[in-house]
This record gives sequence, structure tokens and C-alpha cells, in this order.
Amino acid sequence: MSLRYLYWVLTLALVYVSCAVTSATSIESRSLTADLVEYGVDLNATNFDAVLKYTPATFAVVEFYAHWCPACRNYKPHYEKVARLFNGPDAAHPGIIIMTRVDCALKINTKLCDKFSVSHYPMLFWGPPSKFVGGGWEPNQKNSDIRPIHDGRTADRLLNWINKQMSSSYGLDDQKFENEHLLYNVSDPTQIARAIYDVEEATSIAFDSILGYKMIKPQTRGSLIKFLQLLVARHPSWRCRKGASDILVSFGDLNTIDLQSANKQEDDDGKLSLRNFQICGKDVPRRYWMFCRGSKYDTRGFSCGLWVLLHSLSVRIEDGESQFTFNAICDYIHNFFICEECRQHFYHICTSVSTPFNKARDFALWLWSAHNKFNERLMEEEAMLGTGDPKFPKMIWPPSQLCPSCYLSRDQKSNKVECNQDEVFKFLRSYYGDTLATLYKDKGTNGNNVIDGVAEAPLVTKI
Ligand SMILES: Cc1cc2nc3c(=O)[nH]c(=O)nc-3n(C[C@H](O)[C@H](O)[C@H](O)COP(=O)(O)OP(=O)(O)OC[C@H]3O[C@@H](n4cnc5c(N)ncnc54)[C@H](O)[C@@H]3O)c2cc1C
Repeated sequence: MSLRYLYWVLTLALVYVSCAVTSATSIESRSLTADLVEYGVDLNATNFDAVLKYTPATFAVVEFYAHWCPACRNYKPHYEKVARLFNGPDAAHPGIIIMTRVDCALKINTKLCDKFSVSHYPMLFWGPPSKFVGGGWEPNQKNSDIRPIHDGRTADRLLNWINKQMSSSYGLDDQKFENEHLLYNVSDPTQIARAIYDVEEATSIAFDSILGYKMIKPQTRGSLIKFLQLLVARHPSWRCRKGASDILVSFGDLNTIDLQSANKQEDDDGKLSLRNFQICGKDVPRRYWMFCRGSKYDTRGFSCGLWVLLHSLSVRIEDGESQFTFNAICDYIHNFFICEECRQHFYHICTSVSTPFNKARDFALWLWSAHNKFNERLMEEEAMLGTGDPKFPKMIWPPSQLCPSCYLSRDQKSNKVECNQDEVFKFLRSYYGDTLATLYKDKGTNGNNVIDGVAEAPLVTKI
């Protein structure tokens, strides 16, 4: 082997281990490995803060790289192997870690990469997503929430490093619905905080299915308006409140003929199309569930998200809004819930109510008790047919682990329970009220129920 050849081999080997930071903005950006499905989320200076601010994930990995860097090209399949586990609708563990990348060779990202003192490529950081927002990292910085990942050179090592941080046991071969790591513990009330994202998901899917299944008709228009009014006033997510408000404003401008076209798949030229609205913002639906994720493909999901939405509305209303809310929810389910059996059962329960609601407490407890009637029936059905989710068996809710004070007594023979309704209401309010909104509050609430200027408002009770 000639010395010259040896020199090139050594030089190339060094380049593949890591790339020093140099400016190479003249080299065109291109896909490093065109044949790979990409799971890492591409961020740049314009979307970095927004994506990391609003992600449901608890942790973020940010890879700073340069598209021209051979070491980065080599590293990409490793990074993608790990990102596949956490990002995208087919992820085995969605919504826990967001795996992202920033191309420092693009001029637009120069300042961003400088803020993180990027000294070589690829350089990886770990931390809570919110800490990256408007943040940075200095080599000598102590006690930073953002930490460089020094030991992530292969997929195995990166995942090991992550497992150590999270005390988890994720594996590179984990598949969707075939894992044992569902983050659900029935006695942990804080888990409901993750459901804020499911409430957004359910709202978005509910609205899309109304349009997709062409359910807006002259006779159902009033029900939809009522339900939208309820969402504008009391939805726990400011994004959905805002989206519902935009739709409601536009909805008022649509006449009956326009309504027919709003149902159509094609846009009419220049006409307002409800189809273009994304009720909870452009990032939703995300196509995965967090709190409502089943352990099997066809369990939980939307119907769980819908229940959580209904309960979260029920604990946010004022006394004077209780009858309106009852009507809005019963009519919405009756006219727009695509599951025929479900709407029939729910309608039956709605029509058995003879006295109007005057108190928010009474309505919230009615909904809780109605839901338990479904649980009771489904408990038997699912046991008989084996159709339930083995990890989420139906039960009279809340279980005593979640709310010990809710229970007065339980008859061992009949399994009938007597509940303390005051305690149940207190629990519902805290669970579906404050606790559900915890993650949102962390992201910049500036007062009671006021987030980024979109406040909950009194419910308009006349249409
Ligand atoms: C209006 C409606 C009607 C439905 N009708 C039918 C039907 O007729 N037949 C059918 O097979 N399925 C029906 N479903 C679906 C079914 O109720 C469940 O949603 C589905 O089986 C998924 O169950 P899950 O384990 O995710 O818990 P879900 O029952 O969906 O509950 C979601 C979460 O709410 C909490 N919760 C449970 N019970 C209560 C309660 N009493 N009060 C407050 N919170 C509670 C728990 O944390 C639970 O995980 C209906 C759903 C809805 C929204």
C-alpha cells in the first residue's frame, strides 16, 4: 500500500468520525439518504421555537448537522432508527420524545447553531422541548436543562443513553402495539395531563368526520352551531377555542346552498370551504394518541378522546350554562357521532332526563354517571366477546386508587358501590379541570384560563 493511499484512507476515516464546523453554504442542500423514510423532524430558524413549544413530547433530541458532512450522512440511518420509535403515527412510543435535526450548513440556521455553540457535526442535545425555545447552550454552562449527548454514536448507544435518562427499556425493535411500555398507571392522576393532546385530536377528528361524512344538513346546522359555541367558550385547548371561533364566524356567512357545498370534497371557486379549516390548528390531528392510546390496534383512541372532551367541558361551565351544555352535547352525539349504536344508547340516556339542569355540578355528575352506565354494560360485553383492551378493562370510575374519598361503601356480593357525590364532583373538577390543563399551563399561561390571548369566554346561550 503506497503512503499516499494510506494517507487518503486515514483522512477519510477521520472525516467519517465527525466533521469540524466549517461554512459550506454554497453546497446545495440535498437528502442525505434518499431511500430512507425520514422520521427525524427537520427544524430551522423559522419553525424551531414553534415546533418545540407546542410538541406534546416530554423530551427532545436535537441533532445539529451539516448536509455536506460525510459523518452526518453515515450517522443518519442510526439516528433515524431511533427516531422511528418516537416520531410519526406508526411510532412504537409516540409523543414521549421528539427527535429533530437542524442543518447548520444552511445560512438561515447560522445564528441558531451559534446559540448552541455547535463545535462539530453531528452534535446532539437532550432536554425538555420548552427549554430549547429561545434557549441555547454554552460549553462551560453548569446546571443547564439542555445537555449534550456525548455517547450516541450508534443507534444502540443513543437508545441506551436515552433509556438511562428515562429509566426506560425501549428497544430498537419495538413495534407499535407490541410493547409493554404504555405509560399508564391507573392510580396516577397526573396522567390525565397528557390527554389535553387527545382532546385536541378528538376535536379535530370529530370535525373532520362531520365534513367527511357530509353530515351538515339544514336540520343539523343548529346542533353544530350550538356545539361550536360550547367549544369556543369552554374547550380546554386555546387552539381549539380559536379554531372553533373562526369556524363559527365563517359558518354564519354560509347559507343552506353553501352548506351543501361545504360538505363536498371539491372546493367551489372562491367560496368559503369549511373543509379548509383545521379546528385545532395545522399540527392537529397528529394521528396518534397519548392518554387514550390502546395496547391493541383497534381499541380506545377517538371514543376515549371524545369522552375526555365531554368531561372536560362539563367541569368548565358555569351554572347558567348547564342546560345549554346538556342540549349541545346530546344533540351533537345524536346528529354527528358516526357510531350508530353509541348515538342510540346515548340518546336514550339523554331523553330519560326530565328536569332541566340548573347547576354545573349536576350536569358534570350526570355525565359521569352516564359514562359509568356505558362502562357497566361494556364491562360485561367485552368480557363475553373478548373485544376490550386487556390493559384498560372497563370499570366503575374513578377507581378507589384514584379517588379514595369518592367511595362511601361497596357491597362485596353485588359489587354495587355507594359514592360520595360531593367528593366525586371535587375530583372531576380537579382531574378534568386543572390537572388536564397542566401541560398547557407550563407552556405559557398568563392568567386563569388565558393562554396566548385566547381566553375562555361566557357561553352565548342564544343562537
Ligand atoms: C357518547 C359515547 C357513546 C358510546 N357508546 C358506546 C356503545 O354503545 N357501545 C360501545 O361498544 N362503545 C361505546 N362507546 C365507546 C366506549 O364508551 C369507550 O369509549 C371505548 O370502549 C374505549 O374505552 P376506554 O377504555 O378508552 O375508556 P372510555 O370509556 O372511552 O373512557 C375514557 C377515559 O375516561 C375516564 N373515565 C372512565 N369512566 C369515566 C366516568 N364515568 N366519568 C369520567 N371519566 C371516566 C377514564 O380515564 C377512561 O380511560 C361510546 C363512546 C362515547 C363517547
